[in-house]
Amino acid sequence: MNPFYSRKIYCPVCEAKSEVQTLIGAVFNKYYPVRREKDQYVPQWKWYDESWDHINPYLYAIIFCPLCHYCNFQEAFSYKNKRDIPRHYSYLREKKYDIPDIIKEILKEVNCLYSKNISMRNHTTAILGIICAVFWEIFFLEKNKHTYPYRNIGRLYLRLSWLYREQRLSGNANNIKPLNEIEKIVVNMVKHLKDFCVEGRKIPFLTNNFSNYKKEQVSIIIETLDYAVSELSEKTSEILDFFSSSNNISTSPETLLLEKSFALFDWIPKNEKDALIKAAQNFEAASTHDEDLNDKALWKLLELIAYLYEKCEMPEKRDLCLREIIKSSNQKRAVINGKLRKKTSYAEKCDLEYNLKKLNTYIEEISYSYKENTKINQ
Ligand SMILES: [Zn+2]
Repeated sequence: MNPFYSRKIYCPVCEAKSEVQTLIGAVFNKYYPVRREKDQYVPQWKWYDESWDHINPYLYAIIFCPLCHYCNFQEAFSYKNKRDIPRHYSYLREKKYDIPDIIKEILKEVNCLYSKNISMRNHTTAILGIICAVFWEIFFLEKNKHTYPYRNIGRLYLRLSWLYREQRLSGNANNIKPLNEIEKIVVNMVKHLKDFCVEGRKIPFLTNNFSNYKKEQVSIIIETLDYAVSELSEKTSEILDFFSSSNNISTSPETLLLEKSFALFDWIPKNEKDALIKAAQNFEAASTHDEDLNDKALWKLLELIAYLYEKCEMPEKRDLCLREIIKSSNQKRAVINGKLRKKTSYAEKCDLEYNLKKLNTYIEEISYSYKENTKINQ
């Protein structure tokens, strides 16, 4: 038996049916989480077939449509027919042709990596998949700020932070920083060239007859040129050094593609903390925008946001979320108490009392954690 299988998918964007390789899902009951952290992250999975224990389901969460390169979590490809596809996809269906060529190229290349040998997939490939999925969400979001379900993009950013976490813990973090270094050097060099041109114009050696110069003027020219040449040669040798040292680090096609995507999508968080902040911000937008959240789901979401801010060491933001839960759960308690005071049937009364009891325990728990947190901060 193989942990991967060929699955038929129905693309919600181009509406084509195709077949892709994917991991035998949790639906087939082949693996389960050993435990979950507060942000739902599973640090360890257990497979019923122990020989598959090394397989990390997080690497296979994203699916690409092989035809239009749309990508998202598996469930986006699970609609049975056109009627079931959420309305917002009609926008992507129409606008997918407006995606700039340079981005289409990236989507195509990542799709290519995804369709290659699935058992070779690694964290970098998985991160690239999330980046592309976030791109599609942002592409939609830009024009549909009011109707966009912000939870979708929050989940992608959260998943991205988990991948960065695992990469960091395994000591295989993407070493993309040197690219920023080289950017700095080149920017400095260009700035210096610009300064030199301004300086150069002050020196009249380009227009006047050189033989008319006085000795001091000539020495100023020589000095300026000398300085400029030494600065420039220093910068060029820095770039050269960078390239000769980075050639020693083996650069896989995935890493190169990641560098390209980072340069193109400057909004993509490049580390775990930035991804967590983005996730928290989008979940916050979801808590005020997404209309289909009931009280309980909203509180759960706020609890998650509070935890994410705690992890990012942003206690003020965390406390705001906890206060919001306490406030709105107290309002809910007042509503239930109001209903209880009115005459109700015995069954209804039992029901309300049961809900009130559960709510009281919840408020107690949240208030306790809020008090504990604020105590630590004082
Ligand atoms: Zn498609």
